[in-house]
Amino acid sequence: MYQKKLVGVFGDPVDDNPSVVIEQVAFDYMKLPMEYLTIQVKKGDLQAAIEGLRAMNFTGINITMPHKIDVLQYLDYVADDAKIMGAVNTIYVKDGKLYGENTDGKGFMRNLRNGNVPTKGKNVVLLGAGGVARAISVELANAGVKHITVVNVIKEEGERLVELLNSKTSVEATFVFWDHKYSVPDKTDIVVNATPIGFVNKEEKPNIVYESIHPQMVVCDVIPNNMNTLFLEEAKKIGCKTFHGMQMLVNQGAIAFELWTGLEAPVQVMLEALAKVYGD
Ligand code: NDP
Repeated sequence: MYQKKLVGVFGDPVDDNPSVVIEQVAFDYMKLPMEYLTIQVKKGDLQAAIEGLRAMNFTGINITMPHKIDVLQYLDYVADDAKIMGAVNTIYVKDGKLYGENTDGKGFMRNLRNGNVPTKGKNVVLLGAGGVARAISVELANAGVKHITVVNVIKEEGERLVELLNSKTSVEATFVFWDHKYSVPDKTDIVVNATPIGFVNKEEKPNIVYESIHPQMVVCDVIPNNMNTLFLEEAKKIGCKTFHGMQMLVNQGAIAFELWTGLEAPVQVMLEALAKVYGD
């Protein structure tokens, strides 16, 4: 009997989950018999749900909050970068085995690669120290970045990320407590907003001295629902090359698509579908 191949997302239910939009539109565009499901999995039910992937012949699954960290213990293999981050957001099933990957930081790196931005030996300023900051900084470190300055409002969280980077990767990382208007150092090559500032309130931008940004700096935002955040607008006015979080989100979804199907993802179709949902 004919059955569509199943993928989807396990986690807390959210309205308008962007992964549903970008993955399903990609499957349909490529005429693949695949369906993306949103499945609410409560905290205590994760192991049973993960076992169910094998039992129900799933192709793979995305993992979102609150399971990104807990899920590692139930997998057969975890990619090295995801092990360092301690978080997985994508699983694929191959020959009955479960493989864990983290595509968030990889989606960010694909933006830089597609824009011909070199990373080896570069200096990065990273605003924020949460899950996305961790994923991005580990990938930047693995790509040969020289130094990462982690700027964060909660000291312990920032210091924890710096300690992780210094102990588990070859990058040099230092911490700056973000209790003031932060001035970006002159030697900086890449500046990243990895906080949620600008996501809900589009009038907000990170508390930095914008005059300290120079035109040769590359400026990136993770905010997934707006291509033109105030942060990026300020950088564009200065003349910087910029990368938005909507493309990063599409890229991380494209990498998941590629892991599940073995095919190149139709990224432009995915981006257009996402922009329509977010009205941008
Ligand atoms: P977390 O909650 O794990 O981390 C957020 C970080 O931002 C923390 O370091 C937090 O500091 C800091 N922060 C929060 N509010 C402020 C503020 N007002 N001023 C300064 N710092 C602040 O979130 P995630 O890392 O998971 O997500 C961050 C953003 O990335 C979200 O907007 C999310 O939508 C987006 N995202 C984008 C993706 C993409 O592909 N484009 C993928 C996934 C997420 P502290 O905790 O120390 O208070």
